[in-house]
Amino acid sequence: MPKSKFVDFKAVKAAITMEQVLEHYGLLDKFKRGADSLSGPCPIHKGSNPTQFRVSISKNVWNCFSECKHGGNTLDFIARMDDVSILAAANKAIEWFHLDIDEMSGDSNPEAGETSEPPRNGEVARPRPAARPAPAQENGAPNKPLQFRLDKLEREHPYLVKERGLTLETIVDFGVGFCAKGMMTGRIAIPINNAEGKVVAYAGRSIEEPTDDSPKYKLPPGFRKSQELFNLDRAIKEPTDKPLLIVEGFFDCMKIHQNGWRKVVALMGSTMSAAQEKLIRQHMTGQSHVIVMLDENEAGKFGREDIASHLSTHCFVKVHEFDTPEAEPEHLFPEDLVEILEGVR
Ligand SMILES: [Zn+2]
Repeated sequence: MPKSKFVDFKAVKAAITMEQVLEHYGLLDKFKRGADSLSGPCPIHKGSNPTQFRVSISKNVWNCFSECKHGGNTLDFIARMDDVSILAAANKAIEWFHLDIDEMSGDSNPEAGETSEPPRNGEVARPRPAARPAPAQENGAPNKPLQFRLDKLEREHPYLVKERGLTLETIVDFGVGFCAKGMMTGRIAIPINNAEGKVVAYAGRSIEEPTDDSPKYKLPPGFRKSQELFNLDRAIKEPTDKPLLIVEGFFDCMKIHQNGWRKVVALMGSTMSAAQEKLIRQHMTGQSHVIVMLDENEAGKFGREDIASHLSTHCFVKVHEFDTPEAEPEHLFPEDLVEILEGVR
């Protein structure tokens, strides 16, 4: 039975403020601050009257009294500014503000569609402190390389070997392992490198069913996931005429790599951020080929269409669709992978 997948709009809305959204667009300086309000020219219809657009800080809503004659919440604002659907706006908000996506949605996490997860049908995620945005960073500022390494990671942990089917070679190759102490205690630590191959963060994968207090993935506060592509540093060392495979999650990526296709990157979610698009474009020519292989669920279908439309102006893009609902690249047999990829070359 296909699982219900959704973004909990309510939780996303509750986690971000209009001020943060305006700041994200670089607009906050243009607004005048009142006791419980912000007012300024309407950024949606690009008006000039400084009182036409008003934000109620306590209600976290906006209104344009001029041309738009419209108002709404934070997601409505993003949707109007970027001319996208509310779903796309929610996904953008999750990316921009590093919201705790495990808590917020069932479809935007790095392993959306994982079979071990109970159905979230009708479940309402409660906003909680962990779902608050990370402290604002300069827009577009790169993640800084870490000054430390997690050592003494347990490589041959049953979760990696038995549950995820990784070989010791892959485990060592990607530097992953179970962390018995420190900030990732009780989790699988997964180093994330920037394009230069420097470790910029560790993602911590829970080895148990995620709970309210323990999300599936833990990322360091302030880390901008949207600025990186997992495994990019190594994928770009592969031959330029070889297609680049784009998948969602860490484990999709490691498994595909293990199955012999090393030119693979993971979005760490089901959407491609503007920064990720830029990274891909930097390493592509007009002759390059890209294969988008996201999970076969609603989020994946949405994501792959969006990615294809963005990348197809720069290179050749093929979208892979699985025959089976809920299929994921992680679970492909090596021979099926070969068959899929051979069809592209
Ligand atoms: Zn307006």
